[in-house]
Amino acid sequence: MISKYSSSASPREWASIARSSFGIKQDQVFVDVEELLTEILTVDVRRAVLPSLAGLLLLRMPRLEGTVLIEERDSWERQRFTLAHELKHILVDVTAGLIQIHNGILIHPDTAETLGYGMGSTAIGIEATADQFAGEFLMAATPFKKRLKGAPVSIAAIAGVAAEFRVSITAAVTRWVSCAEGRCVLIEIRRGKLYRFVPSSQFAAQSTSEKWLEVGADISPRTRVGRRTAGELEFELDAPGPTAISSREWMRRSTHKGNLMEDVLDVPQSGRLYSLIWYPEDFKSA
Ligand SMILES: [Zn+2]
Repeated sequence: MISKYSSSASPREWASIARSSFGIKQDQVFVDVEELLTEILTVDVRRAVLPSLAGLLLLRMPRLEGTVLIEERDSWERQRFTLAHELKHILVDVTAGLIQIHNGILIHPDTAETLGYGMGSTAIGIEATADQFAGEFLMAATPFKKRLKGAPVSIAAIAGVAAEFRVSITAAVTRWVSCAEGRCVLIEIRRGKLYRFVPSSQFAAQSTSEKWLEVGADISPRTRVGRRTAGELEFELDAPGPTAISSREWMRRSTHKGNLMEDVLDVPQSGRLYSLIWYPEDFKSA
């Protein structure tokens, strides 16, 4: 259906084409992706325990008949994201021949790693773009930005919007970074090191004189997330919410004199830990 665009279009354009093809209004907040898959594309959605997988796409070609299996132990919001990720594979990658077919059967497994909420989205592979598509498809920019306009930046504020769109907080924070009009970055921390990150376009475009920590670098114990990693009970030290942190803690080299703002997202269900960092001067609320 979208194959003729797939060589040139971006995930944002695919999502916009898909939303209008399905008759989803520009400002519609909740999108029932499961109903679209089952009622319009007549693809079955089934839930099962899938050890080490988040989703599995099984299609009989060339008729696109088949099933999407999703991990039943994932949260409902996470399952919806997986379904939107698979929707992009069906609409774009399958029709463009980017997923291999064996004897007329297409099998595409997605692990919790390939389905990483677009983290490390400088990758242009089919998985990173499927995550970007899912974010754009489930959270259209217009209603998403409208809800946060003028509000001070915080994970708590974005979490409130996530509840309205019925997506996970992680997916909503990633989406917020992808459409932010200022310098900000969402990073994932594993074992005290910077594991991967997704920057806003302005963060990615800033000059190399701002030397951001690279992947694999140790996180300073003086950052908010560093204190969390060290096992300090941060809520005994700070009120929850954004904290000002010296730029030096996140930049190897910087001409930035002031503080950065940092807020932490801890997802106990998946054991993941993220930090959202932004330049406060870029996000002064009106
Ligand atoms: Zn995938």
